[in-house]
Amino acid sequence: MRSPSAHDRLWMPFTAHQDNLDFPPVVMRRGEGIFLYDVDGREYIDAIGSWWVSSLGHCNKQISDAVKRQADKLEHVLMAGFISEPTLELTEILGSVLPKPLSRIFYSDDGSTAVEVAMKIAIQYHAIRGSGRCAFVSLGGGYHGDTLGAMSVGAIPPFHGLFHKRFKEQYFADSPYCFRCPAGQKSPSACSAQCMDSLERIVDEHGGRIAACVFEPMVQGAAGMRVYPAKVLRRIFDICKRGGVLAIADEVATGLGRTGEMFACDYAKTVPDIMCLAKGLTGGYLPIAVTAVSEDIYNEFKGDHRSNRVLNHGHTFTGNPLASSAAVAAISQLIEKKLPHSAGPAMKHFSERLSSLDSEEHVSGIRHLGFIGAFELVRDKGAKEKFSPEQRVSFKLSQKALAKGLIIRPLGDTVYYMPPFNVTEREVDAIFELTREALRETLDEVL
Ligand SMILES: *Cc1c(COP(=O)(O)O)cnc(C)c1O
Repeated sequence: MRSPSAHDRLWMPFTAHQDNLDFPPVVMRRGEGIFLYDVDGREYIDAIGSWWVSSLGHCNKQISDAVKRQADKLEHVLMAGFISEPTLELTEILGSVLPKPLSRIFYSDDGSTAVEVAMKIAIQYHAIRGSGRCAFVSLGGGYHGDTLGAMSVGAIPPFHGLFHKRFKEQYFADSPYCFRCPAGQKSPSACSAQCMDSLERIVDEHGGRIAACVFEPMVQGAAGMRVYPAKVLRRIFDICKRGGVLAIADEVATGLGRTGEMFACDYAKTVPDIMCLAKGLTGGYLPIAVTAVSEDIYNEFKGDHRSNRVLNHGHTFTGNPLASSAAVAAISQLIEKKLPHSAGPAMKHFSERLSSLDSEEHVSGIRHLGFIGAFELVRDKGAKEKFSPEQRVSFKLSQKALAKGLIIRPLGDTVYYMPPFNVTEREVDAIFELTREALRETLDEVL
């Protein structure tokens, strides 16, 4: 059932007008586990967790029940002077999974606002301590959301290029992009995190102006699931520490098990000063986000209403009870099922099946961490030469896959996967079989 007038009124995110006409959105009616069903009853494998949020499958019974129960009790209460029971419960359960130093939790609505909150806390923290540090450093290829502050630390040209010229300029180090290593290293064994020399130079030169470094630990998501080694992450932490620059780990995509550890920062055995969470938090049910802050930072904010220590920030839906109840149900399942570690064998199977695509002629740059996987389509594997953007190879591949009932989406030349943690081995096999078929058809057509 597609209403032409509704379709004409929609302004779709990240979508060209013409594509919206040529490839109108599929209207979905129902979801179950890794599957989505459209209004005509067609079945699709959602291999990307509906923008990386569906970590426990669609229509997860435990989360559905929790939200239904809460909806009959209390849908919302303002969070200043008041709080709901599920939000208190969520705070407690987050306290049990977050690394100990991150003891203060600030709620907002989505990943972008979690990052905005972190940036404001960083600036105000330095201001309280009498420092004027208010710039940020981040990494090339970084993505931290689509609001203005979060965009200012993002570095994906098609998303951010126009806007960077129009507000505060930040500092950008190189992207830890191993497939096209900015330090020119040819193999992982030659890597000693040289890509972060660029970060060190920036912090040496401008550190006194820099409030914080904002980065995606272990995987730069929107840049194309660029997985990078733990030693690079450790070096980022070291450089921040030496320069008095707060470390803001944007775990919006990587947090809560996605990478095979509860938090991607665990790979570096380090705790950031501030951590942002959002995508997997409610298993995809409702929007809510977390900015978790170390007690050392929070201590600076202790004062009365006359002090400059009040964080004057909040959103209408901050600490929404329905979203909180969904998050409690989602995190409870992670704990009960000992996720993500109990999914280790499934993640291994996933990485093996993904790696088997390496035998395909135009597939290169395969990378994975936990239940994140990606490959790049290249014209020439040896030279890593790109296809012309005009050819839209990865876009065409995702359309072919869709016609076969597999939902994948391109990020530039990259095609990626983010299955739920309870995906079965058979479903993983189906994902890569369908990918292979769609890939061959696409290349037959394009080349
Ligand atoms: C998606 C994402 C964001 C933005 O989250 P929204 O909920 O879309 O605002 C921020 N940071 C990272 C790393 C993300 O992947």
